[in-house]
Amino acid sequence: MSDLTRLTIATARAGLAARDYSARELVDAHIAAIEGGRDLNAFVAETFDQARAGADAADRRIAAGDGRLLEGIPLAIKDLFCTRGVRSQACSRILDGFEPPYESTVTANLWAAGALMLGKTNMDEFAMGSANVTSADGPVINPWRREGDDKSLVPGGSSGGSAAAVAAGLALGATGTDTGGSIRQPGAFCGIVGMKPTYGRCSRWGMIAFASSLDQAGPLTRTVEDAALMLQAMAGHDPRDSTSIDRPVPDYAASLTGDVRDLTIGVPAEYRMEGMPAEIEALWEEGVRWFRDAGATVIDISLPLTKYALPTYYIVAPAEASSNLARYDGVRYGLRVEGDDPTEMYARTRAAGFGREVKRRILIGTYVLSAGYYDAYYLKAQKVRTLIARDFETAFESVDAVLTPTAPFAAFAIGEKMDDPIAMYLNDVFTVPASLAGLPAISVPAGLTGDGLPLGLHLIARPFDEPTLFRAAGVLEGAAGFSHRPPVHGAGGAV
Ligand code: GLN
Repeated sequence: MSDLTRLTIATARAGLAARDYSARELVDAHIAAIEGGRDLNAFVAETFDQARAGADAADRRIAAGDGRLLEGIPLAIKDLFCTRGVRSQACSRILDGFEPPYESTVTANLWAAGALMLGKTNMDEFAMGSANVTSADGPVINPWRREGDDKSLVPGGSSGGSAAAVAAGLALGATGTDTGGSIRQPGAFCGIVGMKPTYGRCSRWGMIAFASSLDQAGPLTRTVEDAALMLQAMAGHDPRDSTSIDRPVPDYAASLTGDVRDLTIGVPAEYRMEGMPAEIEALWEEGVRWFRDAGATVIDISLPLTKYALPTYYIVAPAEASSNLARYDGVRYGLRVEGDDPTEMYARTRAAGFGREVKRRILIGTYVLSAGYYDAYYLKAQKVRTLIARDFETAFESVDAVLTPTAPFAAFAIGEKMDDPIAMYLNDVFTVPASLAGLPAISVPAGLTGDGLPLGLHLIARPFDEPTLFRAAGVLEGAAGFSHRPPVHGAGGAV
């Protein structure tokens, strides 16, 4: 039965419809895999009873010929989504014991499509990080290893638990959230697909806020088609999120025609980063060849402000975070550490509840928003952000998608890059520009490093042009033919 954990969402749908196996068998296989894979620390809450009951209901619907888009598909949900009656803490101590009385729109949409929740996944605290090492629930272990080296590697972040779960066969798909790269970079580090839709495509209602003008939900899956299926269910307008956009959700899977002969792909010169490993550069060139071989036109483009994206992001995101996180005061929910007066109680609660990285962001954010520095930092960053978006607008006058590497390196060992926040921030150098511009983007597993670790290629498209993004990504996926599997599938053993 263990091969049920190796299916794609698309093949599982077909198998369920053909009654090759039941949703209950599918869910039980995943529960066994999660139990055998607890050493990865991918899950922070397990909701097995709920999943089993949902599977039985799904089987009844399928038997009645009433199956919906994701009927009976077992998924993992990032701990950042509020799920009714189930811990939702963004892996922070400050939300200790928080079980929301409501459901996020994205997860409600998934359940309305028939999907089932296996549990909540580990993540960087409040989604601040690139290695899943800032979680109050401890680090996640990447199921991949360097060849001939047993050192535990990070899965990327912040959606590290979701990415590790999908890569290790603990869920058929997972939700992530991406503020500056948190779906795409862990997707690349774990050898799976990670997709961030256009800002406003998915509702943020019930997502624990990090930086509201950047946060977007998206899928982590094994294939591009699966990402299209999951996004189909997740996306849509929601009157409870004023930044969610009211436009129809197209049939994303139908856009995977395999034909890119009418597309022009842009390769931005400015993404050629000094010190980037030669094998990443080589994979990028291979990506160009794949698109040319498939009949697409590939041209060089310029995105001159790229070098300002990372510093801009690290002003805008902490500024919004410092404001969003002001609500955690020990009064309304989560942790409370008593003091002699309210001010002391706030201070003690926040000192005990937030980890070091979150405190660093609150300090930076408060500084750049303070009188006297607001104009010099925050306002200037907002202006640069507009110019970065304009760079993309100009590029999209002549190209349909932009091709870059996803990250400047592969997964690194737990402990590496940890004492230097700037080195950690470099993880996002290729993903952050699309975030600042609100554009849809996807990471597709495309190759391996010399020592056997997955590398991703990254595509960016015009706002709301997810169909073209998926179409191009599908061709990239087909040409790359990435079929490698991680050597460690939890304690259940290697395949
Ligand atoms: N790594 C980036 C950060 O730490 C992005 C995180 C994210 O996308 N949530 O802010």
